[in-house]
Amino acid sequence: FELRDHPLLDGLNEPQRAAVTHAGAPLLVVAGAGSGKTRVLTRRIAWLINERKAHPGSILAITFTNKAAAEMKERVEDLVGKRARIMWVSTFHSACVRILRKEIDRVGFKSNFSIYDAADSKRLMTLVLRDLELDPKRYQPNAVLNWVSDQKNELRDAEDAAKEARNSFEEAYAKAFASYQRRLREANALDFDDLIMTTVHLLQAFPDVRENYRRRFRHVLVDEYQDTNHAQYSLIQQLCGASFEEGHQEAVEPSELMVVGDADQSIYAFRGADIRNILDFEQDFPDATTILLEQNYRSTQTILSAANSVIGNNRGRKPKRLWTDAGEGERIVGYVSDDEHDEARFVSEEIDKLTDDAGVRPADVAVFYRTNAQSRVFEEVFIRTGQPYKVVGGVRFYERREVRDALAYLRMLVNTADEISLRRVLNTPKRGIGERAEACIAALADRDRITFWEALTRAADAPGLATRSLKNIEAFVAMVQELQSMVEADERPDVILESVLERSGYLAELEASDDPQDGTRVENLAELVAVAREFAEDPQPGPSVDPAEVEAGTVAVGLGDFLERVALVADADQIPDAPDGDDSGVVTLMTLHTAKGLEFPVVFLTGLEDGVFPHQRSLGDQPELEEERRLAYVGLTRAQQRLYVSRALVRSAWGAPSHNPASRFLDELPVDLVDWRRTASEQTRWGRQDLSGGSTRLAIPTDAGRRNFSSAALRADAAAKAKPARDIPSLDPGDRVVHDSFGMGTVVAVEGVAEKSVASIDFGSEGVKRLLLRYAPVEKL
Ligand code: ATP
Ligand code: MG
Repeated sequence: FELRDHPLLDGLNEPQRAAVTHAGAPLLVVAGAGSGKTRVLTRRIAWLINERKAHPGSILAITFTNKAAAEMKERVEDLVGKRARIMWVSTFHSACVRILRKEIDRVGFKSNFSIYDAADSKRLMTLVLRDLELDPKRYQPNAVLNWVSDQKNELRDAEDAAKEARNSFEEAYAKAFASYQRRLREANALDFDDLIMTTVHLLQAFPDVRENYRRRFRHVLVDEYQDTNHAQYSLIQQLCGASFEEGHQEAVEPSELMVVGDADQSIYAFRGADIRNILDFEQDFPDATTILLEQNYRSTQTILSAANSVIGNNRGRKPKRLWTDAGEGERIVGYVSDDEHDEARFVSEEIDKLTDDAGVRPADVAVFYRTNAQSRVFEEVFIRTGQPYKVVGGVRFYERREVRDALAYLRMLVNTADEISLRRVLNTPKRGIGERAEACIAALADRDRITFWEALTRAADAPGLATRSLKNIEAFVAMVQELQSMVEADERPDVILESVLERSGYLAELEASDDPQDGTRVENLAELVAVAREFAEDPQPGPSVDPAEVEAGTVAVGLGDFLERVALVADADQIPDAPDGDDSGVVTLMTLHTAKGLEFPVVFLTGLEDGVFPHQRSLGDQPELEEERRLAYVGLTRAQQRLYVSRALVRSAWGAPSHNPASRFLDELPVDLVDWRRTASEQTRWGRQDLSGGSTRLAIPTDAGRRNFSSAALRADAAAKAKPARDIPSLDPGDRVVHDSFGMGTVVAVEGVAEKSVASIDFGSEGVKRLLLRYAPVEKL
């Protein structure tokens, strides 16, 4: 038949059509940014359903975020109608949860398992390290967790890790790993990496389960394939039953596989993403077909040339011929600001000009930066000028203390084995069950080999428990049991949540407080109730619910389902939709990592300074620097029509101003493409001191060297500037804070008072910092 006239092939070029209509062997589409990979994947799904008569339920498509999944689904629905609703379009994690909810009893978990996020995992690991009596200075929970995560991404369990340990350090890590897994199992909980690993293990171990899913998913499609890690790769293999499994006789024919990706956009190596998955595709699937797309439909030639020039500095990559017929377009605008506030002001004024004179809507504009903490200055300016904005990622709603507390209540109601959640709420709000009482209960649980919850219900047996504590515990148990009966009666999640907040006294405590932050907390809880209500009323359930059940009207929208939806919200899913559905006046702020796959007519790429972007950690390390460069490539290629690049001469960091040299990525832009509105030398001419030496970059090879540089050169400056002018934040252990440079953190300890108070704050991957609060740019959340 005549392909050319088919409406599903409208607006596609030849290689795109070939990819959409390809049948049979595994298909790899590799292509640079904006060449239509995602568009092709979406059209192919529609093609499979309409032309190849594939049952929508036989399609599994993997996207990078739940939001991208929802968009893709909507597109396909537009193309082929409502029956598309029953296909599985989801992230790896959501797909695994769906499978696990049905099958996990095979590996000894209950189907109501909890999903632990980073904060839960950290709490659990802290307990594990304490139990193992490992020196907390040498063995930090986050460091151990990162290592554990690497192991899981490579599908190594604790036993493998123990066998392969090369030194006493790794032996200790492996021990912690084993103990951590044991406690997760006791809590009937899985962490994020477990979701993938457990699914792979399950499919490997149970041929009938594997066959069942292979029979179901005849078509598997993966977007952003360059960012899959080994575990995800194995999952695809298990689900497709690809032909490379030599000598292995499977009852089901391999499914059709299509993956699309761009090695130059691989930016998740730190999460174990393995670029080889894309480079080796043809080796792994010997009968594979590869299609290249070379026309870019997103950006002007200027933007494309800039991006190509930057990425060209990475070694060992396959050069690409990416072209566009969109024309030269506007030149790139460069700006060197005095400091980060000046940079934010420039961005804000430029947006005003564009919306006034160039027909740009605020929604067309995105501001990118390297780390979450950088959003704050932009937010300040936008608040001041009244420019509506939204921050993607950042201080995440679901990370706020009160939201986490409320969710912990709900989680332990659904799964009383979930000790982390249970202990979190045991004395929150304070109800006279102190640490000693908690320890007595833990001891009882240990002695009698029962769960913490069971021990609570038998608190009278706990040796050494004070009578008063016992009374309080009994009251707590009674309250929990009462709330549990609501869960058993299938009450709506929002109704249960409201009862929790009331019966626990949590809300009353916040309402009685005169701390203004507690007012905000009440609002956030109201928001959470609203989310739960919407969930209860929305016929479209969460990302991990099988759409076939929705169709059949058998879907449960109970508390467990609600918790699952919340647990699976990824960073990039934080884009809140405007209440009236009209976003056209809202500017988007986000980190470069969350910008993947998106496009905007106008892009501001900010903070282009060596030490900021590329990130300081990468400066002395070639592979990491190349990953930063790919991140720059991702950022640059988001822009459709206009691109701005900016940097600040001075940026506050470590509580003192830091003078950052220009990012090397700026030097990698072709000179003739950038129109510098204001340059470093101009500022010198205006009498400002430019310590970065204009365009000559200072070579600062190491972290330490860099710090010395900033502290030595700036000590006088810092002393003069850092007046204790502002209020010293009053902090307590457990408080969440945000720091200008380190981002979000949790207070571990506070010493000293008033002007002398020093807080130790855990900034996650940035480590634990001791900060003099008088000077440190930290703010309590
Ligand atoms: P990325 O690498 O950033 O994920 P991509 O390769 O997935 O990019 P798409 O997002 O699918 O690219 O497409 C980029 C833009 O080009 C989109 O706006 C898309 O609608 C448009 N586009 C893709 N193919 C064509 C085409 N043949 N004709 C016109 N526009 C197209
Ligand atoms: Mg894409």
